[in-house]
Formats: sequence, C-alpha cells, structure tokens
Amino acid sequence: MAIKGMEPRNAVERLIHEFSRLPGIGPKTAERLTHHLLTAEESQVMALADALIQIKHSVHPCRQCFQPTESELCSICADPARDAQLLCIVEQPKDLMAIERSGVYRGLYHVLQGRLAPLENIGPEKLTIDALLRRVREQNVREVILATNPTLEGDGTALYISNLLSESPVKITRLARGLAAGSHLEFANRDALADALTGRRDY
Ligand SMILES: [Zn+2]
Repeated sequence: MAIKGMEPRNAVERLIHEFSRLPGIGPKTAERLTHHLLTAEESQVMALADALIQIKHSVHPCRQCFQPTESELCSICADPARDAQLLCIVEQPKDLMAIERSGVYRGLYHVLQGRLAPLENIGPEKLTIDALLRRVREQNVREVILATNPTLEGDGTALYISNLLSESPVKITRLARGLAAGSHLEFANRDALADALTGRRDY
C-alpha cells in the first residue's frame, strides 16, 4: 500500500498514487482500481490510457463559451435551435452539465472557469469576464442569467458581474428558488435546478 507522503517505489504504487490524487478517490478505491487494471484485458487498459491522453491533446475551451470541446465551437454554441440572446453564466463546465440535465434551458452559456476568490488570489483577470462583456456587447444579448453557485464566493462573483453590466440594457437575473444557500449546482437535483431556472428573479 502507498503511504501518504512517500515516493512510489514501483509501477503499481505509482498508479495507486496517481489515482488517489483524483477527487473522490481514497486510498482503498485507488488500490481497487489499480488491481482491477492489473488483471484487465490489455485493450481495455490501452483504451483508458488513450482516452486520458486525448482529453489533454484534443480538448480545449470553446472559442465562444469556454466549455471544453474538440471543435472550434462546442455543440451548444453551434446549435441554431438555441436562443442566442439568452446567456447563462456558470462557474465550471460541470455546472453547465447540471443545467443541461435539468432539460429546461434552451439558451447559450458562458463558463467563467472559476469564481472570484480574493483569499486565493483569484481576481477577475483569471476568469473569462472580459470575453463575457464582449459577448453581451456584440451579440445583442437580451438576458444574462447569473447561475454561479449560491455560496459566498458565487454570490460575490454574481454581484461583481452585475455591476459591470449595470450600464448595459441587458436584463440580469439570478437563479433563486429551490437552491439552498451554500449549495453547489453540480449536486442539485434536476427538479430543484429546473425550478431555480424557471423561477429566476430580476437581480
Ligand atoms: Zn460553446
């Protein structure tokens, strides 16, 4: 078993070590995954290794909304059936996926790639806020939905963006009902998220 803080001594320990650095994977699970792969078909292991390399080599942020994609524009931005005048602002791609799963949203997104966190030195220049302002200005956006998490930092980020947009004629709304303060969109259930979207309020 790999001991925390110790250098892995061989290939098996190295893989256990790498697995245990992933979110949600403790030492037991890291060992189980490693031992599973030791006995798995070679083709399965190679397919996994290939998929890992591909996500770093072929996936990059969408030119417009910054969610990960393999083309210049992601499938949502490229979909003509989407309402391009409606923009939903989220912190991370996983929040976008949670909103997509709710099935009630037909507009486009803008992924901030984080949230403002002064204590961690994450200021506006680290997020895609400039690109957002440009989109709102150039793309005739009708409504911006601030769907950052209902946490201290998510609320602060929403407030910061709304201040930047206060001179623009765009309507600004915020997810509300159904989402508990301090919760994260990615863990919200579908109905609560659908409710929060359809019941969004002027900000
Ligand atoms: Zn996109």
